[in-house]
Amino acid sequence: MVWRDILKVAFKCPQLLEVFKANSKITIGDGRLISFWLDQWVGGDCLKNLFPRLYSVSMQQGISVAVIKSRSTGSGEWDLSFRRALFQWEVEELRKMKELLQTAPELRYGVVDGLSWAADRSGIFTVSSAYKWSELTSTMPAKVVELIWKNAAPPKVQFFAWLAWKGRIKTSTYLQRIGILSANSDANCVFCRKERETVSHVLLCCSFSWRVWSNIIGWWGVSWVQPGSVVGLIQWWAGFRCKNRLKVIWKIIPLAVLWSLWKLRNEIIFNESQLDFGKLCDLIKTRVAMWFRAFSPSFCYSVDDLRMICFCRAVVVNCRCVGITILVGGLAEGLSDLSAAAVVFNQFEGLLLYLI
Ligand SMILES: [Zn+2]
Repeated sequence: MVWRDILKVAFKCPQLLEVFKANSKITIGDGRLISFWLDQWVGGDCLKNLFPRLYSVSMQQGISVAVIKSRSTGSGEWDLSFRRALFQWEVEELRKMKELLQTAPELRYGVVDGLSWAADRSGIFTVSSAYKWSELTSTMPAKVVELIWKNAAPPKVQFFAWLAWKGRIKTSTYLQRIGILSANSDANCVFCRKERETVSHVLLCCSFSWRVWSNIIGWWGVSWVQPGSVVGLIQWWAGFRCKNRLKVIWKIIPLAVLWSLWKLRNEIIFNESQLDFGKLCDLIKTRVAMWFRAFSPSFCYSVDDLRMICFCRAVVVNCRCVGITILVGGLAEGLSDLSAAAVVFNQFEGLLLYLI
């Protein structure tokens, strides 16, 4: 009950929740209170995150460890059921999951499951130990904290950016290292299929990812040198000076790009989606515009308007010079004649005045 109250507070702040997740450890009793898929009770993460495809077809998504175990056959197999027959590669995933389950601690019948607090030797939660731990681990420069956690992007996206900053994204290379993926499985980047998938590679240095960053940055008319890591990228972004409401949009962009690259990577792996550069850039711009709109309820322009203005290089670079630059910006957007650009000008003038 105490934990429930603590977690209720933590859920409102992704940063705090991460502190709790990193420091709380499930102690297994009879398994009745532990969710088989959603709690982290075996391996380095919950089974839902380690085997997302199997989870998505599971018929037992909310089931407890105790129930799955009690239904298991005498041979020690876990009684797992799925909505449909598994594909060959899913069977392979299942084999890996079963291997992992063999390392799970034994259930202790008659003992209630518990949660212990790893940040204190006693295993008991204290506010002072939580405070000390968060102080010790908060090594992020203030500007990075502001960029990631005071951002109009949704909390799950902020959290993902934080994991990327910490280098804690579960890439194929990482999964191979901890034994979730076998040593001879393909750990190459799904974008280029040439290099091993590490956090920096897939989110930044891969030729495909870099093209995406360059495209998005290019629209802002900002010149930069490619940072060598996600940490360098976020630091550079956090230090860039930008004023007023444009700053809100500027801060959303890196989170939208990181999130969208990772989502596409997962779509390719789990849904066999195709790599489409133009579609991804378009989706990123839409996400930026949508999140900004959700953040500013008084904002009366459409997502399309915002997409245009946010990524219209001439307008943003010269955002204080409302006038001819907007016409140039309109033309840069691909509008073929001056009258079309004039329409853009009229539409954007109010929007621009709102933003600056
Ligand atoms: Zn690559």
